[in-house]
Amino acid sequence: MTEKPTFEEIVAKYSRALVLVAHPDDPEFFCGGTVARLTQAGLTVHYLLLTSGDKGSDDRALSDAELAAIRVVEQEQAARVLGVEKVTCLNYPDGFLQPSYEVVRDAVRKIREFKPDIVLTTDPHTLYSRGVSHHDHRAAGIVVLDAVFPAARNHRYFPELLAEGLEPHVVREIWISRGQDPDLEVDISAVFDLRTEALLHHKTQIRNPEEFVKRMENYRRAQPEPVTERFRRLTLG
Ligand SMILES: [Zn+2]
Repeated sequence: MTEKPTFEEIVAKYSRALVLVAHPDDPEFFCGGTVARLTQAGLTVHYLLLTSGDKGSDDRALSDAELAAIRVVEQEQAARVLGVEKVTCLNYPDGFLQPSYEVVRDAVRKIREFKPDIVLTTDPHTLYSRGVSHHDHRAAGIVVLDAVFPAARNHRYFPELLAEGLEPHVVREIWISRGQDPDLEVDISAVFDLRTEALLHHKTQIRNPEEFVKRMENYRRAQPEPVTERFRRLTLG
């Protein structure tokens, strides 16, 4: 039986990773430690957010547009902490994300532009585990699967992108955060506090920062060492 490759062995072959998710704060909540590990390993990491999270607040004093603008800035600050090079937001409406022609095409456009080796995303399957899984997190997972295979690599998909000069690109791996039957565990012990620091930039999502830091510390203490983020890893030829 062959041993499973380690995180280090996997990423040594690659130079670029794209985190493609639904909302500002999803990259850090789902895979912030792994993002830090990837950038520290020398990979260039970009984020592509399909919505700007314009429903993510109970504050009635904020309009949807104001909230969206704030959340994108929060996301850029958080990404900087983790060494991410670029954040792009497509501004599709929060809450109703669909793997439509337009959304998949826009994801393919970014994949063909950036040419990531790895795309990280959220689980397209799980409707609920401890609580209800957010609709957009599932939809984002489907968008990624549809965009990576076969659309990004096949020139017959989205001829308008070919006309823009964007040639097909083959993504090598998809890492599904908290996906079914996880087979990759990334040790985030050394970057756990950095992940917390990044998360704290999402001020609209964290009502009480002191209480949040305590919750993170308690979570960390309750975990066996090393602390990990887990993924289902799909390898594509
Ligand atoms: Zn989310």
